[in-house]
Amino acid sequence: LTGNEPVEDHQITVCVRKRPLNKKEVTKKEVDVISVPTKDQMIVHEPKNKVDLTKYLENQKFRFDYAFDDSCTNEVVYKYTAKPLVQTIFEGGMATCFAYGQTGSGKTHTMGGDFQGKTQDCKKGIYAMAARDVFTYLKSPKYKPLNLIVSASFFEIYSGKVFDLLADKAKLRVLEDGKQQVQIVGLTEKVVDNVDEVLKLIHHGNAARTSGQTSANSNSSRSHAVFQIVVRSPGMHRVHGKFSLIDLAGNERGADTSSANRQTRMESAEINKSLLALKECIRALGMKGNNHLPFRVSKLTQVLRDSFIGDKSRTCMIAMISPAMSSCEHSLNTLRYADRVKEL
Ligand code: ADP
Ligand code: MG
Repeated sequence: LTGNEPVEDHQITVCVRKRPLNKKEVTKKEVDVISVPTKDQMIVHEPKNKVDLTKYLENQKFRFDYAFDDSCTNEVVYKYTAKPLVQTIFEGGMATCFAYGQTGSGKTHTMGGDFQGKTQDCKKGIYAMAARDVFTYLKSPKYKPLNLIVSASFFEIYSGKVFDLLADKAKLRVLEDGKQQVQIVGLTEKVVDNVDEVLKLIHHGNAARTSGQTSANSNSSRSHAVFQIVVRSPGMHRVHGKFSLIDLAGNERGADTSSANRQTRMESAEINKSLLALKECIRALGMKGNNHLPFRVSKLTQVLRDSFIGDKSRTCMIAMISPAMSSCEHSLNTLRYADRVKEL
């Protein structure tokens, strides 16, 4: 995809993004086993051995709404994924955009930008680009008369608990009222007037998310980060629309259920549960009578409940793929999961 192709209109969009081999992988002489032959296909060329030990490649082809190759920029990915959802929240709907994939596949790069410590680092991520366009819509002749108020929240779900990334990772309670309305009690929701204010919040949250972790034991790979842009009507401050942008926990963490460490095993089970429930919730989006969906099974789906109901809700999943041969199995798992999200 070059960015010149037309953007399709779907209630559920599922796409895949391949990142380039990085320096470390090149140094290790890693082989690239992923190809993107067309704008909607991705092929895994998996090396296998025959019984007589001669080598061959097993090609497994997958088709999605869009497939981004390693030359695509965040801007192009954004154009086909989150950008079409900005309008949804101005029209009074709920929008969600998920980055799914194994640790190191490019989720945070895509969503948050490459955060190195400077506020401007966040600018090239989907969080920031979505915020930029929210303000464009806000000022447009069509939506300006609504006088909507924009605010932002940023929180993390780790081991089934919610932490406020805009308030020193304060632990928050999730409450559900009689009408199944879910509330995160005390979640910081900052009113923002321009994109620079949002960038500061993203920066602040990114810094909080990565503080106190080492690369060997990175909490961010075991937590879901949720960045939300809320537009409210003036006066009663009723929610008009909400855009949730989610950097999911590494999907390989969900599979790690045989660890000797009890804490790790519990975290893995929680991640696994939440990713499975998420798939079901997205699949059911827009269907009638979806009240018995497994929202309560995990904190992630519980707090996103209102985004999966109502026919105005729209969602997008970007499945991230590492190209290296050593990631082959994880890549196949990711592609199969993404395939199931959309399968009818
Ligand atoms: P994840 O959040 O899925 O664990 P990251 O986003 O942190 O993965 O990406 C891992 C590394 O790969 C980072 O150094 C990031 O800058 C780099 N990277 C990821 N995607 C791309 C891309 N499309 N182009 C260039 N570098 C990338
Ligand atoms: Mg990450």
